[in-house]
Amino acid sequence: MNFIEIDLKKLEHNYHAIRSLLNPKTKMIGVVKANAYGSGVNSIAEKLVALGIDALAVAYTEEGIQLRNQGIKARILVFYPQIENFKLLISANLEPALYSKKSWRAFEKNILDQKKTNYPVHIKYNTGLNRIGFNPADSKWVLNEIKKDAFNIKSVYSHLAASEENRPNEFSQKQLALFNEIMNDHKKNSKSETDFHLLNTSGIFNYPELHLDWVRCGIGLYGFANQPNGE
Ligand SMILES: *Cc1c(COP(=O)(O)O)cnc(C)c1O
Repeated sequence: MNFIEIDLKKLEHNYHAIRSLLNPKTKMIGVVKANAYGSGVNSIAEKLVALGIDALAVAYTEEGIQLRNQGIKARILVFYPQIENFKLLISANLEPALYSKKSWRAFEKNILDQKKTNYPVHIKYNTGLNRIGFNPADSKWVLNEIKKDAFNIKSVYSHLAASEENRPNEFSQKQLALFNEIMNDHKKNSKSETDFHLLNTSGIFNYPELHLDWVRCGIGLYGFANQPNGE
């Protein structure tokens, strides 16, 4: 399937349906990675911005640059930025997720080289599956780093891996316990207000008490979620 016609009206409907589930203070990241899941990122991203999405997210720097070239001015997070592209990422004013000591150091060097301070970044922790992210045991190291002027920590996040499974779920409980500790440590040590997030689309439906400050919604916006509101 290389062409899917997405009905923008349906996107609008899904956006409002999901938004209506959220606490008014919870912000929504529209995940448009992989060309909005193969549907043609162009019109989707523009429509989401017009609808009032709080930020967009992509997987790789190139996708973010493509959105900038298209004239999208909204905040754009990059979930899996490659170190080789950090310079480009900064010139396009994209916000990286930093997920390892190596990526952290490399990004710091790029910020300093470009004589920037207070650059908006996001910190990804791995609390579950073998996905990328700082090990929770690295948090002491991270907490020391975030004091530096180079960084403005916009958010700290993880990914609830089994969010589509039935509840109660032991694996999710373990992840949550780890993330709670991370949140507490960051709240105690942050120099500015930091937001926290944990959920993708299925988590939004299944864990309403964990919407926190942001939710990251991809597939639900396109209507493929196996949930009543997703159609
Ligand atoms: C792809 C992705 C999402 C969106 O997940 P959906 O299930 O499509 O809502 C959220 N967070 C991260 C880190 C992702 O990579």
